[in-house]
Parts: sequence; structure tokens; C-alpha cells
Amino acid sequence: MASIQDQIVLITGASSGIGAACARAFAQGGAKLVLVARRLERLEELAQELKQYGTQVYCLQLDVCDRTFVKSALRSLPEPWHNIDILINNAGLSRGLDKFYTADIQDWEEMIDTNIKGLLYITRLLAPKMVERGRGHIINIGSIAGHQTYPGGNVYCATKAAVKALSEGMKMDLLGTPVRVTSVDPGMVKTEFSQVRFHGDVERANKVYQGITPLSAEDVAEIVYFCTTRPPHVNISELIVLATDQA
Ligand code: NDP
Repeated sequence: MASIQDQIVLITGASSGIGAACARAFAQGGAKLVLVARRLERLEELAQELKQYGTQVYCLQLDVCDRTFVKSALRSLPEPWHNIDILINNAGLSRGLDKFYTADIQDWEEMIDTNIKGLLYITRLLAPKMVERGRGHIINIGSIAGHQTYPGGNVYCATKAAVKALSEGMKMDLLGTPVRVTSVDPGMVKTEFSQVRFHGDVERANKVYQGITPLSAEDVAEIVYFCTTRPPHVNISELIVLATDQA
């Protein structure tokens, strides 16, 4: 197993769910962390919690959809944080579960901007340095939704199908460099995802998990950690992880 000790890991969407669980897993492995999300207070709380592992953390309040700000914020990362070794493109969301002909177009914009464009903005800025330094690993958190479209999931599933295509394209473009690309595609994970999807309707969000034992954010984080700790010549290209109960 390759060591994660002192590697710099940038995690988008680290303020909750899978991103926060990845932060905990990598902190325990001895990594240094750049935590990215819009809710700075959540990032700071997490940074405080991670002190128990002696982790060095840089919290970066950032909306991944804001191309101009993403560029200036990543270019002006303080010196010890310049060289990102592992990028975990996790920030993402779903809005609504509606038929396409009744859906709110604003919801579509938000999903496309965050799940596709946000991932691209961040990766476009960080990948060149990885190529230049001859080391790096990009983890894209896709979804089973990128493989199977479900009723009402239309645009969300399309964004995750795009993430799948982007992961494949990144791999091809990076061929011949030591930079690895891994797509981790989970099924149902119990996080704030469903609440965000239903605009804060907790009751509706909880119904999603009835009769099923969903994955936990920690289950996914463990897998992400596993992928990044393989020897440099081993790339886990794509990994689908489902709740055992899930079809
Ligand atoms: P959460 O809602 O718990 O976490 C989503 C994270 O994304 C939050 O930290 C949020 O932070 C961040 N985020 C959202 N929009 C932005 C933005 N514009 N800029 C920066 N950060 C943003 O959900 P999950 O942990 O479940 O989701 C993580 C990823 O996993 C997503 O890509 C999701 O599509 C994917 N996934 C989730 C599944 C599930 O069932 N939960 C299944 C398959 C895939 P903040 O609001 O503070 O900005």
C-alpha cells in the first residue's frame, strides 16, 4: 500500500457527506488537506475536529461554479499548499425529482453548473501542475446515475453520465503521464444529498431510504482512500459501489 503521509489532498464539497468523510479518512492517513465548499463555518468545524490527528488543514470557501473566483482562489493558494497531489472532485448535487417537462429550469442550471462545469473548472486548473510535477491522482465522484437513468432523474443522471465521459476523456488525455484518474460511482448514500434534492423537505428525503440500508459516507470514503493508496503503476479506473439492497 502506498503511503498518503504528507500528500496534499484537495476535496471539493468537504462540508458534509462523502467529502467530509474523505477528509476524516485522509486525515487519519496523515495527509494535508485543502477543504473546499461554500459553507466556511462547516469547514472550520471539521478542521477543528481533525486537529486530533495532527492534520494540517487549509479551508477554502469557494463556489465551484464561479469560474473567475475558482481561478483566482486556486492560483493564490498559499505556498505550502501549491502542489496538490490528490484532487477529489466530490462537490455535487441533485435538485428535484421531476419529469423533464415540468421541472424547474433553475434546478437544471444548478446541477449542470456544479456537477459538470465546477468539476471542469477545478480540474483544468490543477491538472497542469500534476503533469508538470509528474505526480497526481484525480478522483471524480460520479454516480450509478451516470450508468442507469431513473424516473425523474433525467438531468441529474445526464450530469453524472457526463462525469463518466469526462473521467474517460481525462484518462485518455493523461495517458503517458503518471497522473491517474479514477471514477468512483456510488449508489444510494445517506448524506444531506436527499435533503438538498428536495429543497430541505426532511420527511420526503427520509422516505428515500425506507426499506433499504443505504451506504454511509464512510463506506465511500474508504473506497476513495483505497484507490489512492495503490502503488503508482496501479490505477483503479472505475468503481461502482452499491448498497447491497439496491437494484
Ligand atoms: P452532500 O449534500 O452531503 O454534500 C455535497 C457537498 O457538495 C457539500 O459539501 C456542498 O457544500 C458541496 N457543494 C455543492 N454545491 C457546491 C458548490 N457550488 N461549490 C462548492 N461546493 C458545493 O451530498 P453527498 O456527500 O452525498 O454528495 C457528494 C457527491 O456524491 C456529489 O457529487 C453527489 O452527486 C455524489 N453522489 C451522492 C450519492 C448519494 O446518494 N448521496 C450517490 C451517488 C453520488 P456547500 O453546500 O457547503 O457548498
